[in-house]
Amino acid sequence: MIADRVKGLEPSGIRKIFDRVQTAKNPIDLIMGEPDFDVPMNIKEAGIKAILDGKNKYTPTAGIKPLRDKLANNLAAKGIFFDDIMVTGGVSGGILLSCLTLINPGDEVIIPDPYFVMYKYVVSLCGGVPVFLDTYPDFHIREERFKKLLTKKTKLLILNSPNNPTGAVYSPNEIRMIARYADSHNLIIISDEIYERFVYDEQEYLPIGAIHKSTVTLRGFAKTYAMTGWRLGYACGPAEIIRNMITMQQYSFTCAPSVAQYAALEALSTDVSEHITHYQEKRDYIYNALKAKYRVEKPEGAFYIFPEAGGSTSNEFLEICLKKDLFIIPGDSFSQHNTHFRISFAAPMERLQKGAEILNSII
Ligand code: PMP
Repeated sequence: MIADRVKGLEPSGIRKIFDRVQTAKNPIDLIMGEPDFDVPMNIKEAGIKAILDGKNKYTPTAGIKPLRDKLANNLAAKGIFFDDIMVTGGVSGGILLSCLTLINPGDEVIIPDPYFVMYKYVVSLCGGVPVFLDTYPDFHIREERFKKLLTKKTKLLILNSPNNPTGAVYSPNEIRMIARYADSHNLIIISDEIYERFVYDEQEYLPIGAIHKSTVTLRGFAKTYAMTGWRLGYACGPAEIIRNMITMQQYSFTCAPSVAQYAALEALSTDVSEHITHYQEKRDYIYNALKAKYRVEKPEGAFYIFPEAGGSTSNEFLEICLKKDLFIIPGDSFSQHNTHFRISFAAPMERLQKGAEILNSII
């Protein structure tokens, strides 16, 4: 009954643990990758107003013009090259459409490991071959390892900086090195920049789309404005790619949610810097709380930390945590390795403190 492309597809490890949280009595939940603040009031009001004003119909496939114009201005101001821009159903929509548009069966797609859960499955769904670029132990890209993976079949590289699940932010030099190889090997880059606002310690952030023209840049509203349920993202890049992604959107999602698009106009003039500062404080707290007992890298961005599970496999470690009502995500959901675990520090401070206490009592 089930098509071959779906056979062997495992539900996301995150969703499985999410289901277990629902049945736990007093869960200390450090799993969800979404902000713990609510959508700012002015954005909610803009959404309500859009509904009341009757903006409830299909929009143009590529998105409403005022939003595309505003986004285009912002991206151009950041020096990102693009010919065209479209609004997508979340960054997830952008990932699916870009992969469907670019990957032929047999194409090799380099994915730095650890990686966001969707990439591996979407690449396979399109008939592509995921080729993992190991970034352990510091989660940065080493030229020697990258070089070795390039073949005649390599077509794409999927970058995600700031990274989920490691919090790594690639430095400008790292980005320039990657772009050099992408140029010389004619690679297209899909750059998932959903966490671009979450970069800490005033580290310089160089979007690869500012130096490599064959880049599809994906950004969104979910994390920056806590609009995870509104399903809104955008994609920009070379004309031919975006034009085909728009056609794919026509035959799949039709358009991104209309109300969310109108609310997004308001979101773009909303200041969320205070929230970002709070996340940096939480990052400092959790890193300092764990570093004595765990081998752990200090996250440079996003809102995740990815410590080593101290000798057990990540699944064994999860079971130990679950006995203490602590919910974390085992690293094998994001990796070919099974040695680390992910904590989301987008959680209230009190919960982070409880979580750290439990983790420090385990090893
Ligand atoms: N990319 C990354 C790296 C993510 O972490 C997420 C959400 N967890 C997404 C894409 C999906 O984003 P959206 O909700 O906009 O579809």
